[in-house]
Amino acid sequence: MLQYEFMSEKLMRVYKKYDVSQIKPHLMIYGDLNGSCANCNNLNVKFTDIQCPECKSIFKYIAFRNPKNHIPKIYKLMEEKPDMLIIDYDDYHKALGDQKAKSIFND
Ligand SMILES: [Zn+2]
Repeated sequence: MLQYEFMSEKLMRVYKKYDVSQIKPHLMIYGDLNGSCANCNNLNVKFTDIQCPECKSIFKYIAFRNPKNHIPKIYKLMEEKPDMLIIDYDDYHKALGDQKAKSIFND
């Protein structure tokens, strides 16, 4: 049994309007073992990195591909980097797809 299960504060997702083009340059996407930079697609980003080692983009947002597998990490992140905003990966992915579809029609 994990300790955080007993805390009275639980994770609640919040809906807020964002422009995906503002998120992407500062987003770290975290997979199962390591992160990647949404800006330059560098796959060698460590969870503790505050900026991309490749393009030097500062990470302000993070999206977990499988957030349910990383609940302890999410709690830790909130404590250590309270300014980092956690974005739902599916929301981001969908918004990005919508944006791409739009740009195809506009070309
Ligand atoms: Zn990068």
